[in-house]
Amino acid sequence: MKVLVLGAGQLARMMALAGKPLNISVKAYDVGSLQVVDPLNTRVVYGDLSAGINDADVITAEFEHIDHQVLAQCEASGKLKPSSNAIKTGGDRRLEKQLLSNNNVANAKHAIVTCKQSFDKAMATLELPIIFKSALEGYDGKGQWRIKSADQVETIWQDIADFLKSANPEKPQAIIAEQMVPFDREVSMVGVRKADGSTLAYPLTENHHTNGVLSVSLALASNQTLQNQAAEIFDKVANGLNYVGVLAIEFFQVGEQLLVNEIAPRVHNSGHWTQQGADVCQFENHLRAVCDLPLGNTELIRPSAMVNVLGIDTLPDEILSIPSVSMHWYGKTQRAGRKMGHINVSGSNKEELFERLIALAKLLPSQDFPEVLSYVTAKA
Ligand code: AMP
Repeated sequence: MKVLVLGAGQLARMMALAGKPLNISVKAYDVGSLQVVDPLNTRVVYGDLSAGINDADVITAEFEHIDHQVLAQCEASGKLKPSSNAIKTGGDRRLEKQLLSNNNVANAKHAIVTCKQSFDKAMATLELPIIFKSALEGYDGKGQWRIKSADQVETIWQDIADFLKSANPEKPQAIIAEQMVPFDREVSMVGVRKADGSTLAYPLTENHHTNGVLSVSLALASNQTLQNQAAEIFDKVANGLNYVGVLAIEFFQVGEQLLVNEIAPRVHNSGHWTQQGADVCQFENHLRAVCDLPLGNTELIRPSAMVNVLGIDTLPDEILSIPSVSMHWYGKTQRAGRKMGHINVSGSNKEELFERLIALAKLLPSQDFPEVLSYVTAKA
């Protein structure tokens, strides 16, 4: 099978690596250069998208902010999985909120802001603190503002008004004003759905963010009631989109209730631990789903964790001397804050995992991994 991935970043690369043993060849469409490349070495395979579409059996995506004309061209070939509608929904918080409300899925109280009048209305209906998020092109905490006290209202409104004014008129922007949720923790579920409607989900993952970006994910055997609640929501969302492939849902956990924060119609950073903690990783299961092959086991085979490597391209070699530590570099040019790689760690039980995780965190340069040691020590 030949799969074309829209987007040529680390997710396409990890799909290519996972596809090799199955004889699935993966090419990637680089949305920057508009060329089709080999995601493992970025060598150009085709100079334009049309040749890539013709050559592929299946087309899929590694991110949701893809030009709508490109999506339409791929969909017209009949090869695009998931659908352009599912991809667009993940890239527009208005559509995402609509999907959640159409399927009775709990999420934070919110309002849509497009002008001063709707901003004032949102301020009157929501309680402080409030978070404002751009409907389009927002990810990893970008395009966001927070109002914690009444004295910030005017300044933040000015920032939002400037942002709305500067938006491309061909892509109408809006802001989602959302009640800040006093969550106990953030968790996510990565699951997979086939065209026949069958689904499987990996265990819930606990996620720790630093400065709005994922820093550590922990996959431990979790509370079955919570797992069932998340799996039920996963099915509602995936069925609501008639989804094919891997889909991730991020939640706020408040007591025993899960509120959806956002959905990602693709393989997800919080599912990278599946490369070592499950029989079949999220990348392979995504390929299996879009190629209509039987899905692989998604159970946790051993407690596992993932630590993101941001902005640096070397690490002390000694980390590899810790048992069950796996390094995954993405082969990217270094840039401050850029996702450069990740480290997976596993243990045969929770105690062993944390022993290894703490040993790892102590070897990582603390300035490049803020909060990692304190977080894993507190969770041990
Ligand atoms: P997002 O881009 O929507 O995932 O937001 C980035 C981060 O901001 C999340 O991972 C949360 O830590 C925080 N956040 C976003 N929305 C809310 C909310 N409604 N209540 C509390 N924290 C939030």
